[in-house]
Amino acid sequence: MTAERIDGKEVAASVVATVTEATKKLIADTGMVPGIAVVIVGEDPASQVYVRSKGKRAEECGFHSVTHKMDETTSEEDLLAMVVNLNEDDAIHGILVQLPLPKHIDEGKVIQTIAPEKDVDGFHFINVGKLGTGETETAFVPCTPAGCLVLIKRALGTDDFSGLNAVVVGRSNIVGKPVANLLLGANATVTIAHSRTKDLPAIARAADILVAAVGRPEMIKADWVKPGACVIDVGINRIDAPEKGEGKTRLVGDVAYDECAEIAGSITPVPGGVGPMTIALLMAATLSSACRAAGVTPPKI
Ligand code: NDP
Repeated sequence: MTAERIDGKEVAASVVATVTEATKKLIADTGMVPGIAVVIVGEDPASQVYVRSKGKRAEECGFHSVTHKMDETTSEEDLLAMVVNLNEDDAIHGILVQLPLPKHIDEGKVIQTIAPEKDVDGFHFINVGKLGTGETETAFVPCTPAGCLVLIKRALGTDDFSGLNAVVVGRSNIVGKPVANLLLGANATVTIAHSRTKDLPAIARAADILVAAVGRPEMIKADWVKPGACVIDVGINRIDAPEKGEGKTRLVGDVAYDECAEIAGSITPVPGGVGPMTIALLMAATLSSACRAAGVTPPKI
């Protein structure tokens, strides 16, 4: 079998198109313009790239978009004051503080200061609790896990995973646990595996849906994959690529793509799989927040 390659770029573009259309309608019907604020502290180059892409995508969607760049030496107090201001700003429906923050700032304190109804990253305890208790109608869900679910639903052609076994490798708060909760919410039978799990290949082989969020290059091999499984690779790992020239590198996922694609039914590539979904789902979350503020039902993604 050769797996269907799940094209995250294409699916992300369709999510952005839905958000853009719904934004036009929201503005026409209510005058409400979805607003997103991204706060970045310091000069981390990768964070700068992410923040620029978020701003660009927000403008494409027709949002009001602001980026607050704060100096590396910004105090925790000043950052908290910025967040409180954004909480009180009626033109802003989604607040995202780009992580990581400089070491002198308590990330947890900053995240818990964001108003839960504007926490489009879904990291506030209220949103984590809502996801954990199945209150997904009003929860904000972390964007990468939400993107994984969209990809799985489209690949399997159903929103209902009744009778399917899902295995999530990784138990982080930003990927593994929320993906597992979302899969459970869609009626899958879910196993969460991690570094202390015994005989991981055998557990993975039972999965109809296998999600890898580990951060170990190409750890998941063909003989870990059940024939026909849907394989979602969240991992982003940079490895040496001497074949491209001295000092060159390339990106790979947590799944050995070529060999697993021979066994799986559908599989995401890296790059071009889960990666593009994160920003698309951030846009969808911001639109949802604006729709809630306007008393309008958000579009189904
Ligand atoms: P973390 O490092 O927070 O978590 C990794 C998880 O993998 C942990 O639960 C750890 O187990 C588990 N793990 C580590 N080694 C093994 C092993 N040998 N066998 C089984 N489990 C293992 O990573 P994140 O969840 O933040 O990210 C995971 C990957 O996803 C990374 O490559 C990251 O770059 C990528 N990522 C991609 C995003 C995207 O937009 N596409 C967004 C976010 C992350 P334990 O808990 O026992 O230590």
